[in-house]
Parts: sequence; C-alpha cells; structure tokens
Amino acid sequence: MDNESLLNALKHVKYPGYTRDIVSFGLVREARFDKGHATIALSLATTDPDIAAQLRTDIEKTLHHSGIPKVTVDIAINAPVAAPTPTPINGVRHIIAIASGKGGVGKSTLATNLACALAAQPGRAGRIGLLDSDIYGPSIPLMMGLAERPEVEGEHLLPPERFGVKTMSLGLLIDADAPVIWRGPMVQKALRQFTTHVAWGELDILLADLPPGTGDAHLALIQATPVDGAVIITTPQRAATTVAQRGAMLFAQTNIPLLGVIENMSGPPFGTGGGEATARALKTEFLGHIPLDATLRQSGDQGIPLVHSAPESPLSRKIIQIALRILEKTALTP
Ligand code: ADP
Repeated sequence: MDNESLLNALKHVKYPGYTRDIVSFGLVREARFDKGHATIALSLATTDPDIAAQLRTDIEKTLHHSGIPKVTVDIAINAPVAAPTPTPINGVRHIIAIASGKGGVGKSTLATNLACALAAQPGRAGRIGLLDSDIYGPSIPLMMGLAERPEVEGEHLLPPERFGVKTMSLGLLIDADAPVIWRGPMVQKALRQFTTHVAWGELDILLADLPPGTGDAHLALIQATPVDGAVIITTPQRAATTVAQRGAMLFAQTNIPLLGVIENMSGPPFGTGGGEATARALKTEFLGHIPLDATLRQSGDQGIPLVHSAPESPLSRKIIQIALRILEKTALTP
C-alpha cells in the first residue's frame, strides 16, 4: 500500500448525508502510509461533532477493510466559512477552471481570449462568464477594458458585460492602490460571494481563472461549487511543466476532469514541447501551442482581447479553435 492507494481507499468514504466522497470534497489534507500505519488528516468546515465522529468511524472501518490494522485519524475543525457542499450557481450550466502551476504563464491572457472567443459564437453573447479568482493580483479587468465598479441590485453584484462576456473580479471592487490582504478564510469568503452573490444570469459556461498553484482559492472554489473541468496553462520549459503537473494534481484528487493543456509562449526563446509532455504526464489532451506574440500582449494591455480586436488573425483563429474544442469537451462532460 502506498499513499496513492491509501487516497483511493478513502474515496469509498462518503461525507455523511451526501453521495460525494471526502476526497472529492477536498477534505483530506494528508494521507500517509508508513510501516503498516495509516495517518489521515482531515480539515472540516463544520462544527457539528457528529459529523467528525461519523467520519472517524467510517474511515477506520473502510481502512480496516482494506487490510490496514493501524489507523490514526486527525480531524481539524475550521470555522465554517465555506460549506463543504458544492452548490451549483443558479443558471450556470458549466464551470471550467483555468489553472497553472505558477504565475506569469499567460493564464489571464488566455482566459480572457478564450472567454471572448466563446462569447463570439452564435447565440452565446452574454452567456459566457469570467470569474477572476486571482485575488492577489487581479489583471483581468484591465485586459477586458473594465474599470467601473459593478452595480448592486439588492444583495447581488451585477457583473459588467463587455465583448459578450460577464466578468467579476476583486479588481473591480477594490481600489487599485489599496493593499490586498485577503488571505486564508478571507479568500474563501470572497470567492464564495462570487459564486453566491453575483447575478450571473443564464450562462452556458463560466470560466474561472484560478490563482497559480494549489492554494486556498482552489479549495474554496471546488468546495463552494461543482467544477466541471479544468484547463491547464503551461510554458514550454521543462521546469514549468513539473510545476504545472503539481498544480494539476489537486484536480485529479478532487475528481475534476482535466480537459487539456495549452502551451503558451511557445517557440523562441523558450522552446516547445513542455505542453505536450505535461498533457502526456497528466493523461489528458494537448489543446495547442500559443506562440510568444507581441499583438497578444498589446491587445491585453489595451483592454481589447486579440480575438476581438483581430478575430481573423492566425493567432486568434488558433485561440478560437482551442475555445471550440473546450466547448465540445465540456458538452461531453456530464
Ligand atoms: P498570468 O495570468 O499567468 O499571471 P498574464 O496573462 O498576466 O499571466 O501574462 C503575463 C504577461 O505576459 C502579460 O504581460 C501578458 O501580456 C504577457 N503574455 C501572456 N501570453 C503571451 C504571449 N503568448 N505572447 C506575448 N506575451 C504574452
């Protein structure tokens, strides 16, 4: 038995009252197997002692069944800032996460262009959303040419619509110069509000641009709402691909299907191949190369994504093709 098989065994333990398991809920913080002894650490966002007790019993029973005699279960209770049950966002059909292992790989650039490419498809204007959960350095408002504060209707924020895309970002709510000290629970709270207190309306797809890595925001989003699939962005270098794979592990552990990998900043001087290698390692589809291209950067700086400012350019066509493939794969996801 290794740590991975241990995690697989834990997938048989359901959260009390739900059909979903504790691994896919993202509650398992640690699962270690060493010399016949399994150590499991859970982090729960409930103060109900019955749930913790029930989970402890269920885990011990399941692992004893799998032939592990010694089991230690350590349960940490966090204040319930995010309920552990993912609640669908009213009116939103699919949520797709856009993720990367590290920052600066062009995740926001591609997320904005993919969203605009989708919104330009027949009948989809106003039915595509973009949720910027990168609350440490939100750049999406600038790239979408948005500056005005969202209007409020009752208890809901109205996401401004531009290029057929409804966008919500912390960058629209805070002053650009204000220090952003949104760590831990604050991150979760803000994200939860983006899923519960934004009037998204009827959306076919909501693209969620996640902060780089595997931090609290990922967990908060996954715990707050059911994510249908994830797209990984990487740069071509080998070092970057290792990081991308690590970033993608969280999705594997939470049963979120990977839709594919995009290699950005492809070609000179960074080379090429890292995207394919990442896709192979993650057993998912390689969606395409996006070259290092000045027009892509400039259009972002000007607040008009390239697929909108130059929809016929070869690079835009390529991005649109990838967007259509994501759309196709999303429809295949139950
Ligand atoms: P991330 O969201 O991953 O931190 P950004 O999308 O903010 O990355 O991109 C970082 C910088 O790189 C931005 O200035 C952006 O304009 C630029 N950039 C991203 N992709 C490309 C590309 N393919 N060609 C040229 N510049 C790019």
